[in-house]
Amino acid sequence: MKKGLLIVLSGPSGVGKGTVCRSLQARMPGLCFSVSATTRPPRPGEIEGRDYYFLSDDHFQRLLAEGAFLEWALVHGRHYGTLKDKVSKVLASGNDLLLEIDIQGAEQVRRQMPEAVTIFMAPPSMAALEQRIIGRGTEDAVKIRQRLEAARREMEAYRNYEYLVVNDEVEATAALLASIIQSEKCRVSRGARPPVQEVSE
Ligand code: 5GP
Repeated sequence: MKKGLLIVLSGPSGVGKGTVCRSLQARMPGLCFSVSATTRPPRPGEIEGRDYYFLSDDHFQRLLAEGAFLEWALVHGRHYGTLKDKVSKVLASGNDLLLEIDIQGAEQVRRQMPEAVTIFMAPPSMAALEQRIIGRGTEDAVKIRQRLEAARREMEAYRNYEYLVVNDEVEATAALLASIIQSEKCRVSRGARPPVQEVSE
């Protein structure tokens, strides 16, 4: 069976990756979204196993020592990681998988799986990003400042990605992501082949 496509999506906190991914999921129901493990506490409305696997520091370190992560990173003082066996299972079953991970994790995936499609999502401006982080209302003033400083550093990393999308409007950005994914799946170098022709007698 043809392996699924691995898609890596990164972008600064508050750029709207979550909202865009929800719209993308509606457009591409066959696309799977990886659920990461994290040591940060759940935000209101977040559900264990759907948004993240919320782990204790000990549990995360144990998995790390066992080599269970395809990639992991310390982001805003908390650990985040993608579980290796979940990724291999989805791809081996021929399904496409999107990882929404930070720039450090993307670098690790790029090294191990150079066939992955990498996409960077940028805000239309830093002012727009600040407004979105404040508007989300889930972070206090110190965290907001930390996230904005991190965002400025993260923006530099766009050069290491194959695609850059600016998230001006959710639906338009989701449509753009869908078209990137569909185009990548049409690449002959990625194994796209014509349907087998019926041989007439
Ligand atoms: P949040 O706490 O806002 O959900 O996520 C914070 C940051 O962690 C985001 O930039 C997100 O992309 C990143 N992140 C989420 N899951 C993972 C993961 O499994 N690995 C890495 N490296 N980063 C992740």
